[in-house]
Amino acid sequence: MEQKKKILIVEDEKNIVDILRFNLQREGYGTLEAYDGETGLQMALEGNPDILLLDVMLPKMNGFDVCRQLREKGNNVPVIILTAREEEADKVLGLEIGADDYITKPFSMRELMARVKANIRRTSMRMDSGNTMDTGVGLVVNTDTYQVTKGGRVVDLTQREYELLTFLASHPGKVYSRIDLMEQVWNYGYVGDDVRTVDVTVRRLREKIEDDPANPTCILTRRGVGYYFSGQA
Ligand code: CA
Repeated sequence: MEQKKKILIVEDEKNIVDILRFNLQREGYGTLEAYDGETGLQMALEGNPDILLLDVMLPKMNGFDVCRQLREKGNNVPVIILTAREEEADKVLGLEIGADDYITKPFSMRELMARVKANIRRTSMRMDSGNTMDTGVGLVVNTDTYQVTKGGRVVDLTQREYELLTFLASHPGKVYSRIDLMEQVWNYGYVGDDVRTVDVTVRRLREKIEDDPANPTCILTRRGVGYYFSGQA
């Protein structure tokens, strides 16, 4: 049997801890809980969690200091910072001190679960040997040779298709608008109708990598928003 993934919740608001515990356990995760920063740091170091959900404003030691000290001690557990909506600056600081992701309060459970899954999978991808990225859906990307294989067979992609695929696959579960993708993958600013280019490239990519391009399982559409790589591990 696969071992349960263990999630450490460091949060001083008991009602938030309760709802997180309930939902995480229902999804099959084990949970550990700490209600202040000092205990959270100690449990992160000794309890060997697979991921940390870390509030910022905490008694005894704030979340940033917990994260900073973890990294200073060489602990690379994925950390998702839970931040309040107004604290925009927190996000930047959190990522600078070594957090992996952040989520703003109030958050939906669905979004939180997607982030948890994505960050657990990202660490297992990092641990793959060599310069290959296993996307978890039957596609393997070799970033040395720029080759993509599906079920062991090489998929012939254009450079842009390759870049689009690797960009989305490195952020599983995160939805990007076509404008975002133009900027991130094509390095364009917003240039009106050119966003159609994204749709066309996605369609071509799906024809090459999906078993059934009409019912994709790798690159998914969030209707009215954009595209994302399957967040399912
Ligand atoms: Ca708090």
